[in-house]
Amino acid sequence: MSEKSKKKRGRKRKDHDQACPNQNCDIYRIVNHEDVIRNGHQKNGEQEYKCNQCEARYNRRKGTPLGGLRTPIYVIVMAMAMYMCGVGVGMIAAVTVKQSIPHT
Ligand SMILES: [Zn+2]
Repeated sequence: MSEKSKKKRGRKRKDHDQACPNQNCDIYRIVNHEDVIRNGHQKNGEQEYKCNQCEARYNRRKGTPLGGLRTPIYVIVMAMAMYMCGVGVGMIAAVTVKQSIPHT
């Protein structure tokens, strides 16, 4: 009998790999710094993070090509899937625009 399977499976601490995106911040780009915390979720369902050093709030998309985009991620994924299936761009736009503009 070996005891190599004794590893704990508990909740990991600070496993978010997020760093402050604020260039003026003391902990800019320091991943998993204790002052970068989860701060609930945004309206679009994205996990929000907050930097306790500079009070910056951001989500995982910040600094990526999707940063600042308001379109829900599932619409983007759907559009890409449609494109790969050979659906025309005009058709994709027609469908996704309906998804991203709220019914008024
Ligand atoms: Zn910061």
